[in-house]
Amino acid sequence: MPDADKKFGGDDAPEGAKTHHEEEAMDELYKAVIMELAKRPHNKGALANAQIVTKGNNPVCGDRVTVYGHVDKDGKFERVTFEGKACAICTASSSMMTDAVTGKSIDEAGKISDHFKAMMRNEVPFEVPAELPDMEALEGVRKFSARVKCATLAWTTLSNGIIEYKAGRGESSIDDSCAT
Ligand code: ZN
Repeated sequence: MPDADKKFGGDDAPEGAKTHHEEEAMDELYKAVIMELAKRPHNKGALANAQIVTKGNNPVCGDRVTVYGHVDKDGKFERVTFEGKACAICTASSSMMTDAVTGKSIDEAGKISDHFKAMMRNEVPFEVPAELPDMEALEGVRKFSARVKCATLAWTTLSNGIIEYKAGRGESSIDDSCAT
């Protein structure tokens, strides 16, 4: 994302604290990243050979996602996809979730998901993985508590799917109004 780098650390970036105007400009940039991913999310669509099929529902915003996971013989996520009707933040975050956990073992994926949720809830510092620079766009969402569940829904849904998969059940659904 070279344009974003320029904007954050460019030569004309002044020293010291950010002005209100700059914060607004950053918010605009984040919004653009989220809108772009929401328009063209990665790994969108049902997965025919998925062993994990989990539905998630965020009644606060009306987001509904289904997360599909195909686990290979070594216990790694060979492919993770999602589909559903969701707001821009939820769709963008779902896309990031699929990118974050593809190729990871189901245990690693569960840890990545838990860590992401803890970041969104301000329980741990917000760190952006090097391979997922777009995730920075979600940092500002933490200010809007009503939207945090939009960002965490796909991740919570994945975690639930992993739990169900380990318990020998392939299909499940959650309601994120009560899930954590
Ligand atoms: Zn939403």
